[in-house]
Amino acid sequence: MSTIPDITLNDGSTIPALGFGVYQIPPEDTAAAVRQALEIGYRHIDTAEMYGNEEGVGQGVRDAGLDRKDVYITSKLNNSLHRPDDARRAFDATLAALGSEYVDLFLIHWPLPTRYDGDFVSTWNVLEEFAESGRARSIGVSNFTPGQLDTLAAGSNTVPAVNQVEVHPYYANNDVRAYGREHGIATEAWSPIAQGRVLGDPVITGIAEALGRTPAQVVLRWHIQRGDIVFPKSISPERMKENAALFDFELDGQTMADISGLDRGVDGRLGPDPETFDWIPG
Ligand code: NAD
Repeated sequence: MSTIPDITLNDGSTIPALGFGVYQIPPEDTAAAVRQALEIGYRHIDTAEMYGNEEGVGQGVRDAGLDRKDVYITSKLNNSLHRPDDARRAFDATLAALGSEYVDLFLIHWPLPTRYDGDFVSTWNVLEEFAESGRARSIGVSNFTPGQLDTLAAGSNTVPAVNQVEVHPYYANNDVRAYGREHGIATEAWSPIAQGRVLGDPVITGIAEALGRTPAQVVLRWHIQRGDIVFPKSISPERMKENAALFDFELDGQTMADISGLDRGVDGRLGPDPETFDWIPG
């Protein structure tokens, strides 16, 4: 596997541009999947308290025999835990589950603007504590809109290092990405291959055939060339390898534009609307 490039975040730290996502990997299968991904060459794992598999992530890193410092780990605060004291306890629990004294990146998973009296700023202020103590090397948000990022900026001096949002060819999410570029917030693209839905698109399959690459490689390469961070999920070792072989070819300008032309705006979105999403686990 060719070397995965790093992206430098606004706090000076670096994150591998390609990682491995573990959403929907059952807890009992996670350690083996993470170990496999690390053996293939991934060095960045994206998990969340909500996924229920942080423990498996920590175990997978140890099973792979790697030093903690050689793997970049992201986790996220669950929706039920936004109140400051809950967030502090949840963060302790995340570190305990990972079996680590720190996490590389910790995110507010969803803004939940219709919950907690619309206050996500005091939750963010607690993440700032985690950063100050060094237990979160970087802090950021997920699923935040430009308006919500403005609200955060008004109540804090810390600009999120990243905003992890849904992005794929059917939902290019360019407004949020442009805001990030303007304010030094890196975009992480979740569901980068739209959970497989874009892979049969004739534009994508046509490009893949012409280049002798797979549809997933074409789509992931499009993200990388847009400067976004991606972490596709797969439990198959073959697909893990396929999804990581992105750094020995390039898409030309016309090909990039053809893929960008698939954008369907909000009609292409798979996930919920961050302005209204209010789900809290029971
Ligand atoms: P994805 O776009 O990575 O697609 C995963 C699906 O595509 C799986 O079903 C897999 O079997 C299939 N697949 C993977 N590689 C393939 C290949 N080469 N060929 C054909 N099919 C392939 O979707 P995802 O898992 O939803 O997103 C990736 C990661 O993003 C998650 O694991 C998680 O870490 C993160 N995420 C974050 C949020 C958030 O709210 N912050 C939401 C969803 C996902």
